[in-house]
Amino acid sequence: VGQPVSDRTEGIAGELESVLDGLPAIDHHCHGVARGELGAAEFDDLLTESEQPQPPGGNVFDAPVGVSVRALCGPLLGLEPHVSGADYLERRAELGSSEVSRILLAAAGIDTYLVDTGFRSADITTPAELAAVTGARSAEIVRLEAVAEGLADAGTGAAEFLGAFEAELASRLERAVGVKSIIAYRYGLDFDPARPEPAAVRRAAGDWLRQRQEKGSSRLDHEVLLRAILWAAVDAGKPIQFHVGYGDTDITMHRCDPTQMTGFLRATMHSGPAITLLHNYPFIREAGYLAQVYPHVYFDTGAVLHFTGPSYLTAVRESLELAPFSKLLFSTDAFGLPEFYALGAQLQRRGLARVFGEWLAAGAISGTDARRYLELIMGGNSARVYGLEPR
Ligand SMILES: [Zn+2]
Repeated sequence: VGQPVSDRTEGIAGELESVLDGLPAIDHHCHGVARGELGAAEFDDLLTESEQPQPPGGNVFDAPVGVSVRALCGPLLGLEPHVSGADYLERRAELGSSEVSRILLAAAGIDTYLVDTGFRSADITTPAELAAVTGARSAEIVRLEAVAEGLADAGTGAAEFLGAFEAELASRLERAVGVKSIIAYRYGLDFDPARPEPAAVRRAAGDWLRQRQEKGSSRLDHEVLLRAILWAAVDAGKPIQFHVGYGDTDITMHRCDPTQMTGFLRATMHSGPAITLLHNYPFIREAGYLAQVYPHVYFDTGAVLHFTGPSYLTAVRESLELAPFSKLLFSTDAFGLPEFYALGAQLQRRGLARVFGEWLAAGAISGTDARRYLELIMGGNSARVYGLEPR
């Protein structure tokens, strides 16, 4: 009473931030941290999804993500906020990468990491190594395409390919808690939702195995086989993560809108596994819609918060617009840089505190409900979806 609304909102948001700091956070999709010391060029490369060198006049520290690294991670490393990129990198080198990881992962305050081990796994820490830095817990997410590529490398023939894939997946899923599909990268989300016939799968495996010998590339990009391993994952019954939207130059963005896979979502609605839509930029509202109407669909804004940096609040707001609060998951999608864990987690907590703070100040939600929803979003939903024991 008598206090301006914005001050009241600030106050409540501050209180909610402390509540959020105390809640267990499950990062349901992330990768490891890069091994060894990073030079400026490697740091630059990891700070953008582009594999192309910076154009003339370009500097990753002048992109939203670089601005936020300097503003928020700089002070964690003992710098003033907003120092230059060169000063930031100098401080990083001075501390050494282990110490930088220790500081930034501690600041992220993540309790459980679900780690996608299927991309550049030799260059980054294993799930156990990542978790050991802060005494967190980790579990593995198996990348479907990487399993298929490994079988082809091991000389699996076309006739037995699908059976071998199913057996290998079952064995990996004895410990792993879910799988990930990158069909968005290898084809698009506008794939035929039907389960391919066994004869078509054998033919496709034969074609692909022949082509990969001719091209000397192990990359699985055969549409029928991509669908076959996806349906094998549906049968396996564990949650299936899908890369959606924003990604590197391999994707064709308009084919990575999650509504392109509506047919597949309809076809799998009663099959069992949860489907979790990752990243979703710039399709957060589409993902929220799908999560509202399909009972097995969940979504996150992983990678979006750190890559949009100072604009993170827009993504957080959109993620809270439509879907039930039991459908939104927390993830950082951090890859390589410990900065991404710190930024992803801090911006997620800050954004939730801000939006729920506004709702509380306006009397739009009760304190009890707000606390319950925050707990679900930060970890409760992922614990339920992936069947994780409480710690
Ligand atoms: Zn990822």
